[in-house]
Amino acid sequence: MVEHVRVAFGTGIVLGLWRGQLEVPPTTAHLLTYYEGRCNANCQFCPQARGSTADTKMLSRVIWPRCDIERVLSAFEEKNDEFVRICIQTVNYKGVIDNVCELVAQIKNRCDTPISVSCQPLEIEDIEKLRGVGAERVGIALDAATPELFDRLKGEGMGSSYTWEGHLKALDGARATFGDRVSTHLIVGLGESEQDMIQTIQLLRDRDITVGLFAFTPIAGTALADRPQPNVSSYRRIQLARFLIFNNLSRVERMRFANGQVFDFGVPCDVLNKTVESGEPFRTSGCSGCNRPFYNESPRGPIYNYPKKLAQKEKTEIKTQLGF
Ligand code: SF4
Repeated sequence: MVEHVRVAFGTGIVLGLWRGQLEVPPTTAHLLTYYEGRCNANCQFCPQARGSTADTKMLSRVIWPRCDIERVLSAFEEKNDEFVRICIQTVNYKGVIDNVCELVAQIKNRCDTPISVSCQPLEIEDIEKLRGVGAERVGIALDAATPELFDRLKGEGMGSSYTWEGHLKALDGARATFGDRVSTHLIVGLGESEQDMIQTIQLLRDRDITVGLFAFTPIAGTALADRPQPNVSSYRRIQLARFLIFNNLSRVERMRFANGQVFDFGVPCDVLNKTVESGEPFRTSGCSGCNRPFYNESPRGPIYNYPKKLAQKEKTEIKTQLGF
């Protein structure tokens, strides 16, 4: 029986669970399964990891206080229109699938907002269970852009049962049930080149799997606490490449790279300029309706993922970052 759930700080403000200032309100409500203990997995960048000493109230740079489930459900019932999506993130522990299915079913009973579940690789019967209780989308985070980085940072190298192939297989398996409503996340700044990242984005696009980009965020108490955030110009190039690939405007084979850095996006100049000028490639990516405000960055900047339509000043700054 689920009694508690963690609620992302900004989500809790919108739900009226506590007070606080919001620079940009979240369009997706974010919940995290509550578990007394740490995740069974050991991803080196994650505060929830088995080997981390970080506060378990943290995920990325966001605080997720524990809340009584009934209070959260009542708040969803009342504030049904405040969000276009609800995202339930899970920690890997025994029994998590039953808990997350229970959570999805309880929320569906109280409001009809579409629900995404972001979880560990699951067996087909568990994926079907999730669909059966009403999840609209499912996400399984690859996080690392290459098999080597995956192994070193979250796989067998870290004493975890996760493998690159296993994650890809689970994503493909999820497609059989959820069709094109399957997502993954990739973290930029774990040691990959732009070429590695863009090749993997293409590989996922070709499998019809949505890609949400994150910028690596160092958190005290994790193994990667001292690693810097990615270079902003490099992040912009990857965002731009992701957007072109997902909108069928280019492919990785058409792009050109020097020392792993992209210098030709494989599209005519006018298309490239128009795409950059729209500002769209630089907004938060992932499931539709998800803006995850300031999940990777302080509102003071530098902003990696823009949570709302870009102002002209921000577009001009991005053009400078891209060397336009
Ligand atoms: S893109 Fe947003 S809603 Fe979708 S799984 Fe990621 S965090 Fe959740």
